[in-house]
Amino acid sequence: MNASLTEPASGYPPDFPPDWREQLKRLPKAELHLHLEGSIAQEDLRALALRHGDAATARRAQSCYTYQDFSGFLQAFKTVSRLLATPEDYAFILRRLAESLRAQGVVYAELILSVGVAHWKGMDWPTIWQALENERRRITGEYGLRLAWIFDAVRQFGFEPAGRVLAEALTCRQHGPVVAFGIGGDEAAIEARVFAPLYNEAAKAGLHRTIHAGESRGPESVWEAIQELKPERIGHGIGSVQDDALMDKLAHQNIWLEVCPSSNLRTGVVPSLAGHPIRRLWEKRVPLTLASDDPAMFETTLLHELALLPGLGFSWNDLLRLLDNSFAASFLPEVEKERFRLRLAQALKSPGAAVKTL
Ligand SMILES: [Zn+2]
Repeated sequence: MNASLTEPASGYPPDFPPDWREQLKRLPKAELHLHLEGSIAQEDLRALALRHGDAATARRAQSCYTYQDFSGFLQAFKTVSRLLATPEDYAFILRRLAESLRAQGVVYAELILSVGVAHWKGMDWPTIWQALENERRRITGEYGLRLAWIFDAVRQFGFEPAGRVLAEALTCRQHGPVVAFGIGGDEAAIEARVFAPLYNEAAKAGLHRTIHAGESRGPESVWEAIQELKPERIGHGIGSVQDDALMDKLAHQNIWLEVCPSSNLRTGVVPSLAGHPIRRLWEKRVPLTLASDDPAMFETTLLHELALLPGLGFSWNDLLRLLDNSFAASFLPEVEKERFRLRLAQALKSPGAAVKTL
């Protein structure tokens, strides 16, 4: 998190208030692409490892988050997931993530749960989810921070395991705010169309849909995802920048991209921050929402992602629009989206006012 990396030589554009970083922190905002399993800070990783008698991983906690490319990142994600061995472990990391979100002025978040990985580990998902749900209720009661769940399957595991994840989502949503079904993992492993029956089933059942695509692959991956699966949001989708027709399509159909610049840098899918396509996507009016993806693994936060953007030519007004987008792109019912957007508008009118919780 080196702020000097992003300070433009000529200073910030003139519309930036002097206390813009403080204001960003104060203003209500949502985060919509955030993996619970990728949010474990190194000290918590060490604590989890020690809790399970894994002294070797406790010693390697720091190097665990050091990798050179996308496959190295997936390997690290697997190592971390292995340390989540009990329902209490999941509740613990949820509490820690909630503390971080609260400190950033996040008032609503849609958390991605790697249900596919939990299945792969042989865990009883309903028990884990119950522990998470109990903790979520406590967090909302204490902090006023509202949370919802996205159940995520692993692409390279294939159709049947993804079907099990969808089945869990359809069951669990009867007892808590499971708002969407998604797929993450290695987008080169299996064609998106294989999963079309699951996306159709999710849509018929009224579940929202998202998918990681156009992250490590180009526009063809996003085209395939939107044509075959009809998701409402795309995780990353930055490969779309290579195709004007695709960017027009995303804009016209209001398909959101969940863009996570630090993640893209750390997994090596973009060579430098200056070369990140977010500005070009923005100029082409592709609907964007900004997120941190796996904040601990990429040493970032949503606030840090926002603070990167002035260095890429974003104005203060652009940043405020992104805060508004964070609610507009959410999977909340329309009336609740509008309530949050109004709350942001009101906070903007009273610059000194603290962010109020619900
Ligand atoms: Zn992700």
